[in-house]
Amino acid sequence: MRAEPTHDSTLARMSRVVSRRGWCYRCGWSWDDVEPHRTTYSMAPGALTAVFPLCEKCWAPMEPSGRLPYYRSLWLHWKSSVPEHDHLRLHAEWPRIEEVVLAGG
Ligand SMILES: [Zn+2]
Repeated sequence: MRAEPTHDSTLARMSRVVSRRGWCYRCGWSWDDVEPHRTTYSMAPGALTAVFPLCEKCWAPMEPSGRLPYYRSLWLHWKSSVPEHDHLRLHAEWPRIEEVVLAGG
């Protein structure tokens, strides 16, 4: 189950109801209505993966350490939604995500 937004509003809830896409973990607006901040990291040469728990508006004013819990929530969501044999792969990915986020990515 996905994390509840931390700064939810009635309008954001309506945005999620009509959307089939994900949403910002802070303000709760769906990706139909706000632009996600794409953080990219690489687990193999030439292969970039994007992770986006926050919209640009929420991401921009936050310190990297304040952003990290939102990335962790999304990573935990991934972990809860994949079979156990994929957990090793995910555990290898978290340090890469953490490094890129703390570096301001
Ligand atoms: Zn947001």
